[in-house]
Amino acid sequence: MNNVIEVKNLRFSYGTADVLKGLSLNIEAGQFVSIVGPNGSGKSTFLKCLNNINRYKSGQILIEGQELKKMKRVEIAKKIAYVPQGTKRSFPTTVFETVLMGRRPYVGWTSKKSDEEIAWEMLSELRLEDLAMRDFDELSGGQQQKVLIARALAQDTDIILLDEPTSDLDIWHQLDVMENVRRLVNKKHVTAIMVVHDLNLASKYSDRMVILKDGTVQVVGKPSEVLNAKNIADTYDVESHVYEHGGMVCVMPMKQICTCKKEKIQ
Ligand code: ADP
Ligand code: MG
Repeated sequence: MNNVIEVKNLRFSYGTADVLKGLSLNIEAGQFVSIVGPNGSGKSTFLKCLNNINRYKSGQILIEGQELKKMKRVEIAKKIAYVPQGTKRSFPTTVFETVLMGRRPYVGWTSKKSDEEIAWEMLSELRLEDLAMRDFDELSGGQQQKVLIARALAQDTDIILLDEPTSDLDIWHQLDVMENVRRLVNKKHVTAIMVVHDLNLASKYSDRMVILKDGTVQVVGKPSEVLNAKNIADTYDVESHVYEHGGMVCVMPMKQICTCKKEKIQ
């Protein structure tokens, strides 16, 4: 098995309270992996550890066999691209320049013609050419999201991390983002790790799903192995109807099992 990422007993805390509590996970090269789980379970924290934005102290992360914390920032940027959570961001520049920024790990501040060609290729891959000369800040959330994905692709890495890239998008744009990521994985054998709340999108597009709960991995496997009523109840406290449609596992959330979370806190 060719693991591009190996995480062993990873612990991380922002202050005193542990957020990641001994997380272990192996990810094979060339797979589309979705990470799901309740709000606050540590999904974004984990992605930031994988990129060494969050510097972990305990446990181990190996990227293609190399210890992440010993790698230089520019080395990491050549291996891992990251599209952070949230849409409305500010880059006081054009769409083209924003995408070109993805080339920075290779070129420093001055880009070559070949870097510009790569930026154009990525704009065209995501069908964004018409927006190239527009100001990034003027775009809609959905358009910005796609530009940031194009920027991550221009970085030309083996691994791409995406934190809820579909959460502010209508269903057309959700499918568009998922199709683009899937195509990238198939065509370039990139490993994509995506945090996503929509269980059906995760089921339709990913090779593997990971349920993260309370800072540890609860379940990992193919969508058909992970998505069942018991796992969903254990993870979200929600009763669901899980069914198959066109060879794909679908989840219809039905009702909260426990509506007493507030009462429990009191
Ligand atoms: P998720 O992405 O699964 O919703 P996060 O990883 O964002 O969860 O957050 C996990 C926990 O860590 C939450 O309790 C959150 O409040 C806390 N947390 C996240 N970011 C920070 C931060 N920068 N400083 C302190 N606590 C944080
Ligand atoms: Mg998050």
